[in-house]
Amino acid sequence: MARRIVAAGNWKMNETPSEAAALIKELVPLVKNDEEDVILCVPAIDIIPAKEAAKGSNIHIGAENMYFEEKGAYTGEISPAMLVDAGVEYVILGHSERRTYFAETNETVNKKVLKAFEHGITPIICCGESLEQREQGITIDWIRQQVKIAFLGVTADQAKTAIIAYEPIWAIGTGKTATTAQAQEVCAAIRECIKELYGEGVSEEIRILYGGSVNAKTAKDLFDQPDIDGGLVGGASLKPEFGQIVNR
Ligand code: PEP
Repeated sequence: MARRIVAAGNWKMNETPSEAAALIKELVPLVKNDEEDVILCVPAIDIIPAKEAAKGSNIHIGAENMYFEEKGAYTGEISPAMLVDAGVEYVILGHSERRTYFAETNETVNKKVLKAFEHGITPIICCGESLEQREQGITIDWIRQQVKIAFLGVTADQAKTAIIAYEPIWAIGTGKTATTAQAQEVCAAIRECIKELYGEGVSEEIRILYGGSVNAKTAKDLFDQPDIDGGLVGGASLKPEFGQIVNR
């Protein structure tokens, strides 16, 4: 079965609201493509101007994080209902920067995944190993654990709509892309893990992305791999280069 390619950007903590609107307007003509899902995940304060700037285009707006409670005394957090009301369709969960700097765990990622589904937001669930773990030869075991915990309590119908992003930590923001063979190997292992959890139907439907220094030169080979259904792109999604990645 042919899975639709996803080209998703992660702007991280970049662009003020007015800069975000201007950048989206610049990207709109460059990322036109009816055959792929083009998503830009932006800082929370940029969501509303980004939505406005993307109106009438094929760009979908996503968030970079979300809390797992409905509402209440959680100063500084953003609720799922707030995201839905602002028109958000996707949310990145468990990015390695959130895990490293903000103490996110597999368990909190799982709570967020369940909450996102409850509110009809598609989670882009990140997993990835450190360089040390790769060198220790435990990459696949580590990723399987991250995936299995993230999907605890998720139904098969929900799981097939999820997006998983395999992002080796050593490749994020370093300019060091995993080789296509390394990326394909881990994405295939993730699909196998989903098959064990939910069966072949779900594993063939779920989309698995590679992320880590993807650029206009590396995107085509990566996205052409049988188990890689697109990319989660950081730095290059803040530039016109994102258009070349979408239309490689
Ligand atoms: C990311 O932020 O998820 C990412 C992969 O960043 P970069 O493309 O800059 O490595």
